[in-house]
Amino acid sequence: MEIVIWLGFCAAVGYYANSKGRSAILWGLLAFVISPLLAGLALALMKDKDTQQDISQLRMNQQMMHDRISSNEKMNEARFSQVNAQLAQQQQNAQLAQQQNARLAQQQQQLAQQQLPQQSGTAAAQPVFCGNCGAQLEPGATFCAECGARVEGR
Ligand SMILES: [Zn+2]
Repeated sequence: MEIVIWLGFCAAVGYYANSKGRSAILWGLLAFVISPLLAGLALALMKDKDTQQDISQLRMNQQMMHDRISSNEKMNEARFSQVNAQLAQQQQNAQLAQQQNARLAQQQQQLAQQQLPQQSGTAAAQPVFCGNCGAQLEPGATFCAECGARVEGR
C-alpha cells in the first residue's frame, strides 16, 4: 500500500515538473529514487532560480543593448553634428574666399581703370593727324599709314 502512495507522490512531482516546463518522466523517476519531497523541493528551487536568472539575464542584456544603441546613437549624432559643423565651416570659408576674390578682382579693376587713362592719356588726349591727307596716325608712327607721307615733327 505504501508503494502506491509513494508512486502517487512521484506522479505529483512529475506533474509539477511538467507544469514548470520540465521532463515529467525524469523528475518522476528522480522522485522515486530519492524521495518525492526532496525531488519536489529541488524542482521548486531549481526552477525558480533558473527563471529568475533567465529574467535578470534577459533584462541585463536588454539594458546593455539599449545602452549600446543609445550610446551609438549619441556617437552618431555627435559625429553627424561634427561633420555638419565642418561642412558649414568649409562653406563659410569658401564664401569668404569668394568674397575676398571678388574684392581683389574689384580692386584690380579699379587699379587698372586708374592706370589706363594715365598710360594712354597722352596719345588719346592729343591725337596726331597726317599733315598730307589728314588721316589719324598711330601713336608713335613715323609715316602715315594712309598716304605714306613722313610725319612731321617726329
Ligand atoms: Zn597721310
